[in-house]
Amino acid sequence: MKPDCLFCRIVARQLPSDVVYEDDAVLAFNDINPQAPTHVLIIPKRHVATVNDVADADAGVFSTLVLRAREIAGRLGIASAGYRLLFNCNEAGGQTVYHLHLHLLGGRQLKGLG
Ligand code: 5GP
Ligand code: ZN
Repeated sequence: MKPDCLFCRIVARQLPSDVVYEDDAVLAFNDINPQAPTHVLIIPKRHVATVNDVADADAGVFSTLVLRAREIAGRLGIASAGYRLLFNCNEAGGQTVYHLHLHLLGGRQLKGLG
């Protein structure tokens, strides 16, 4: 855990969040500023800052996050209508929280990428 990391603090329950899924490796919770009716953040419990910082040997974290996102989409009833999965990386990519997270967006028609 990185003590000054917002999402590590959410994992440690030092900060509240609206958890929608949890297992040993992953936590998923509703985004505080949702951009769609469904906007869930899926994160590894282990701190890693960005997509750039995931070592090849740890690349399984990507499939884990995507598979859990798919499962959550199914449970929230948006799988067949469709949804978007998104990683923002670093400043130009729009990343604001430097703990790896996958956005799951759905529940409305999503348009182009900003
Ligand atoms: P990024 O821009 O880094 O890809 O996404 C960070 C996301 O985290 C944003 O969508 C933002 O609304 C969300 N966020 C920031 N702070 C908090 C918080 O304290 N709790 C929750 N649940 N979401 C947060
Ligand atoms: Zn962290």
